[in-house]
Amino acid sequence: MTEEEGKKSLNFIEAIVEKDLAEGKNDGRIQTRFPPEPNGYLHIGHAKAICLDFGIADQYKGICNLRFDDTNPVKEDVEYVDSIKEDIQWLGFQWNEIYYASDYFRQLYDFAVQLIKEGKAYIDEQSAEVIAQQKGTPTQPGTNSPYRDRPVEENLDLFERMNKGEFEEGRMTLRAKIDMASPNMHFRDPIMYRIIHHSHHRTGTEWKVYPMYDFAHGQSDYFEGVTHSLCTLEFEVHRPLYDYYVDLLATGEYRPRQIEFNRLNLTYTVMSKRKLLQLVKEGLVNGWDDPRMPTICGYRRRGFTPESIRNFINKVGYTKYDGIIDVALLEHSIREDLNMRAPRVSAVLDPVKLIITNYPEGQVEMMEAINNPEDLSAGSHEIAFTRELFIERDDFMEDAPKKFFRMTPGREVRLKNAYIVKCTGVKKNDAGEIVETYAEYDPLTRTGMPESNRKVKGTLHWVSAEHSLPAEVRLYDRLFMVENPSEEKEKDFHELLNPDSLTILKNCRVEMELQQAKPYDHFQFQRLGYFNLDPDSTEGHLVFNRTVSLKDSWSKVKDK
Ligand code: ATP
Ligand code: MG
Repeated sequence: MTEEEGKKSLNFIEAIVEKDLAEGKNDGRIQTRFPPEPNGYLHIGHAKAICLDFGIADQYKGICNLRFDDTNPVKEDVEYVDSIKEDIQWLGFQWNEIYYASDYFRQLYDFAVQLIKEGKAYIDEQSAEVIAQQKGTPTQPGTNSPYRDRPVEENLDLFERMNKGEFEEGRMTLRAKIDMASPNMHFRDPIMYRIIHHSHHRTGTEWKVYPMYDFAHGQSDYFEGVTHSLCTLEFEVHRPLYDYYVDLLATGEYRPRQIEFNRLNLTYTVMSKRKLLQLVKEGLVNGWDDPRMPTICGYRRRGFTPESIRNFINKVGYTKYDGIIDVALLEHSIREDLNMRAPRVSAVLDPVKLIITNYPEGQVEMMEAINNPEDLSAGSHEIAFTRELFIERDDFMEDAPKKFFRMTPGREVRLKNAYIVKCTGVKKNDAGEIVETYAEYDPLTRTGMPESNRKVKGTLHWVSAEHSLPAEVRLYDRLFMVENPSEEKEKDFHELLNPDSLTILKNCRVEMELQQAKPYDHFQFQRLGYFNLDPDSTEGHLVFNRTVSLKDSWSKVKDK
């Protein structure tokens, strides 16, 4: 822990954990778990849960296990299991053990049988619709099922036959017999088991009945010895039921304890796995790791670092109130991190030729370029300067206003790490488009020379026409146009998508230094933003992603 983190006041979960430790609960053991359902890739919301589950265990010398909450075979797959493991490790965390809720199917089934025998569960043959109708409302008690008082023997027999596959899906369920008039709706005879005829990714066709979340989670925590079961606020209303089952199961003093915190929501982002799956399935993005996706693998591909995500989560914090976080804060975190670690290089995204008419033809000067002014230990590299260069098309303007401190006839600018040049003119084609621009350089102004301090307002980036490489650059914008897409219930999800979320630039030029770049390497393209090399790159075809532009809208918000 850094000194700063140490001084920070405790969040409410740390306070609970410290109190439990002080009271000597669970013999001073701290054990958490991260319990993803393997039905999709992890998103940045999961990163919040991961940082908490692993962080608390770390902080209090406990352990955190990874538990796959695989109780619904219909949506689950090993592909997701593998990706989840990879993403957790990439974020910088290591689980103690890996468990699967499906490992407890036998124990859970036996526990259900025990509850049937104790008269605490029964087989209901009513349809889901009828059961829902009988639930009542928070102010009106529900109605008892006509099957509620079925004899124990009959319940046992039917439950066994349900699991043998004698009945089709939906034909019957096992329900807990609790209280149809309870003010907590979750106590109104909740379903414990349903029939599913679908092969499970681990247990195959062994089981035909599958436990509901509420009948699996607390018990799994108990079997494993979890002390603090951290989950999001929507489970707060489930907590009494969690405790109810655990109390029926527990034999000694030990109890797992559920604590809820606010989930992460981000502006311009959807976070539900169902919707993310839909984006992937309908081809609205290029897979789970599309750099526009809020998935961990999407951010990784986009060029985010694990540190930037962890720092972001740390800034967001844990509370008891749901809210929505400005995505600009996440972008601020990656800028902050890459500012310290990304080498500065030159790339021209929309090139136009600049010919230095008084520079000798065929001459090549190697200019020194500092890799990172924030970290001089990162050293420097060389960039070739030649008579023919490329500059950004929008760094040139023919009839420029006074405040245009870039390339315009008659004015001087500095070419970064090279010379001061004076723009002398432009050549256009028949359509009036600019095809070449011209300038003269002042040989005494090379960076580092005494004359180089001469005042000019603008500094432009450039690359040599000959000594540069072609590249494709992918620019990303928000995937959704509205601030809170999940709130736009009346609008179709497709209408909310930003049609310009991806721009592909095919004619970019980058300096030679980038020939050595490896996939996921980070760079700052000077004046443009932070970029990384995409794994789509091949020998001779470099592809870069813009991670984030240099403009920090979050700092602006903050300073207001
Ligand atoms: P989704 O609603 O996106 O499908 P989920 O809750 O169904 O997510 P799980 O795989 O069940 O996904 O989640 C694993 C853990 O991650 C749970 O403890 C859950 O509370 C937590 N989690 C999921 N989404 C978020 C979020 N947006 N913010 C914080 N924690 C989250
Ligand atoms: Mg879930």
